[in-house]
Formats: sequence, structure tokens, C-alpha cells
Amino acid sequence: MRLIVDQDLCISCGLCIDTCPEVFDWNDDGKADVIVDPIPEEFEDAANEAKDGCPTEAIVEP
Ligand code: SF4
Repeated sequence: MRLIVDQDLCISCGLCIDTCPEVFDWNDDGKADVIVDPIPEEFEDAANEAKDGCPTEAIVEP
């Protein structure tokens, strides 16, 4: 499973990083980014939860 953060949509709310810090972290632009590619199976549920919770639907499949 792979995910990316659409940098134009991310509003830096931090929810994804709170929900799944193993997969999401801040980048140098102050936006969230995916830090593991592909996403390890054990983090897929949390990553999907973060994806579903993103208020701007910025987390998408590439
Ligand atoms: S939840 Fe969405 S808007 Fe918030 S930091 Fe993560 S990617 Fe950006």
C-alpha cells in the first residue's frame, strides 16, 4: 500500500501525524508527508484511519 500527501491540499492540521506518526511527519515546508513507501502492513490500518480523517482529503493513493 502506498499513500501520498497532496501538498496543495494539506492545511497542516497535524491530525494524520497524531493518528499515525509511523507513516506521517512534517516536511521542511511545514506540511505533512508520507515517510515510508511502501507503508508496512502493520501500519496500514492506522494510515487508512489518518487518510479518512484528513479534513481536506489531502491523503490519496498515488
Ligand atoms: S490530516 Fe490532512 S490536512 Fe491535516 S496535516 Fe495531515 S494531510 Fe495535512
